[in-house]
Formats: sequence, structure tokens, C-alpha cells
Amino acid sequence: MIVRRASLLVAASLGLSGLVAATPPSGGSVAVVAPAAYVAAPTTVWPSRATSLPLAGTRIALDPGHQLGNHNFPAQIGRPVPAGGFEKPCNTTGTSTNGGYPEATLAFRIARLVQARLEALGAQVALTRTRNSQALWGPCVDARGEFGARVGAQLMVSLHGDGAAAGAHGFHVIAPTARSPWTTDIAVPSLRLARALRSGFDALRVPRSTYVGGGSALSIRSDLATLNMSDVPVAMLEVGNMRNRSDAHRMTTRTGRATYARAVVRGIRLYLAR
Ligand SMILES: [Zn+2]
Repeated sequence: MIVRRASLLVAASLGLSGLVAATPPSGGSVAVVAPAAYVAAPTTVWPSRATSLPLAGTRIALDPGHQLGNHNFPAQIGRPVPAGGFEKPCNTTGTSTNGGYPEATLAFRIARLVQARLEALGAQVALTRTRNSQALWGPCVDARGEFGARVGAQLMVSLHGDGAAAGAHGFHVIAPTARSPWTTDIAVPSLRLARALRSGFDALRVPRSTYVGGGSALSIRSDLATLNMSDVPVAMLEVGNMRNRSDAHRMTTRTGRATYARAVVRGIRLYLAR
């Protein structure tokens, strides 16, 4: 967005010179007034309201896990990519509820809800994928990891649903271990982000995981490229177990997904102290 804003300003300057050049010398007094009015326009275009919004000036990356069409592209998603000192497959198909509701769709819908809320609060938001389609695959996990830094985000949240034994339920948050040289710079703030997201989920009364983290709903892992390849604070959310009936119910209803989205936004605001 900064790039686009910059080009708008460039366009304004070009328009200004064009206006001055096009004005005949005899119309000097008019030329002085017209460019001044033109230059002033951008300050009226950007509503002053925007700068008073709580997340004005923040930039947030969201990573809706997987892509709906991944299973249609086994060769592409099976290709090894850098994962932080080792290699992993580009991506996986993700899981689904027992009723067939795909993880890719869950992650995408939550991400769109989070995006809308963050933008309404004044943030700039970028998504690793902006479509959810059977005809698409990727991006690969290395690109997802690198995405936050590439778009100049202050943090990235990666959204997933887990696939575990049907009797297990609840959310957990994953942060990267400190592994030199990959994540030593982001491990501490990433854990802080993970804890903030956990607070958001606790506040919305989403149950903590009964099967990861021993009641802490936190997991620190070294094997995830999305985390290892990040150069901005990052945390991965497994919002619940898609194979569990009560979690699946939350995931497949509008109100359930809205609860997840509010929890994510709350966590992000807590992390940013905004
Ligand atoms: Zn996943």
C-alpha cells in the first residue's frame, strides 16, 4: 500500500508539473492558484478519521493455510523447498472435518473475517493467498514464511485447523524455536505473539487443546518452514481439531468462525498494545 500511495504522490507531482507547463504565461495568476489546490487534494482524499483508528499505521500479514486445490497438484505440492536448514514438501493438502469441510476453506474464511475487522480498525492487511480454488495450489511453505518480510508486515499469523484423534479437541498456538541463524531474531517476539493469540482465544472461551501443550495450548516447534523462514514475528494457530465433533461444529458455522476471527483480532491487538 505504501508503494501505491507513493505512486499516487508521484502522479500528483506529475499532474502538477503538467498543469504548470500547460498554463500559458499570460495566465500566471491562475497557474499559481490551480496547482496549490491540486497539491492540497491528497490531504482531503485521505480521511483524517483513518489516522485516529486504533490500528492505523500497522501492517499485518495473514497466512490462510494450504490451498483448496492442492490435492489436484501432487507433483507441484510435493516438490522439496527450503524449510530452514533442511527441505520439506512445498505444501500439503491439509485436513478436513469428517463431514468433508476442508481446512483450506476454514483457514481462508477465518482469514477474510480477520482481514475485514483489522482493516476496519485501520490496519493494512496482506494475505499469502487471496483465492480459495480447486484450480489453484500453493504458495509453498517457504514463500509463506518469507511473506511477512516481503510485504513489510510487523507480524504474521498463519491459520490452520488440525487433524487429530476424534476424542481430542481445542486450539493450540505454535511458535518457532530459536535456531541459528534462522529464527534467533524472531523467536522471542514470536512467542509473545503466540501468547497474545492464546489470550485472545481464552477471552472468547474457545477451549484449549486437550492433546497438545499439556494444558498450555502452546507448542514450540523447529520443523515448520512457515515459521522457520519468517523474518517477522510469526505464530501458527491450529484453531481446533477438525476431526472432533464440537470443534467441527464451531468451524462449520458462521458464528463459530466469527468467534475464531474475533479471537485472532483480539490477540493481534494485544500483541501490538493497540
Ligand atoms: Zn494445516
